[in-house]
Amino acid sequence: MPEMPEVQTILEDLKQACLIGKKILKMSVFWDKTIISSDISSFVNTIKGQVITGLDRRGKYLIIHLSNGHSLVIHFRMTGRFILTSTDTPLSPYIRFLMDLDQNMQLRFHDTRKFGRCLLTQNVNETLSKLGPEPFASDLSPQLFAQNLIRKKRALKPLLLDQTFLAGLGNIYVDEALWEAHLHPLQQACCLSATQAETLFKAIQKVLRRGLESQGTTLGIGKTNFYRLSGKRGSHQTLLNVFRREGKPCPRCQTPIIRTVVAQRGTHLCPHCQILKN
Ligand SMILES: [Zn+2]
Repeated sequence: MPEMPEVQTILEDLKQACLIGKKILKMSVFWDKTIISSDISSFVNTIKGQVITGLDRRGKYLIIHLSNGHSLVIHFRMTGRFILTSTDTPLSPYIRFLMDLDQNMQLRFHDTRKFGRCLLTQNVNETLSKLGPEPFASDLSPQLFAQNLIRKKRALKPLLLDQTFLAGLGNIYVDEALWEAHLHPLQQACCLSATQAETLFKAIQKVLRRGLESQGTTLGIGKTNFYRLSGKRGSHQTLLNVFRREGKPCPRCQTPIIRTVVAQRGTHLCPHCQILKN
């Protein structure tokens, strides 16, 4: 699933491709459930003829602002991705909706598993009001993060995956951040010292920055993986310390990485560096 660095990479790619300023000549929907709307024809008609005036990201959501004041909010979920191509490129059966743009371009939403979602809103802030702060928000200091964290009587992994606590993290970056911070995924948040919590915050920023700098994580080679707008792969998978590295040596202490299940998610950790202390 694309997490914050992957969605940000898609956003930067769309900006690079000069999507802002393009006119949407037509919107076509091939899989109705991708669109969160009770009336697909009015959804399509609201978008048709609009100019793309801006692009944004909030948590794992990509936002496309339109000239009529509406915004498209897209969640890629498991396998969603965008492809920008010319109108004469053959259409894959996995395209769930597409926008015809001027200059014979099409922005296609490719989603093999069909969990991706798109909705139209006139108030993005209200639509996404449940999301917690951005990990790089200027008003989120390590001290404030630590205060928020220590107040929670929850294990670290499910807490960090909770988008209402902090927006943008998923399975990969949570596992990597906990390893960076020498913390066990099942450690109770309320048992951490302020210093440990601040260290965790810095670890989260560190792994996200690494993901952003390497244009996201593309783990496998199939259609279900993360790909950039151009179809290129990210390169963060080569820098992972624990995620999907079961049996391989911990880069810090050489102990084999183990895989366990926490909050129904495959979880990777070093049993030597990340000791549970409750
Ligand atoms: Zn280790």
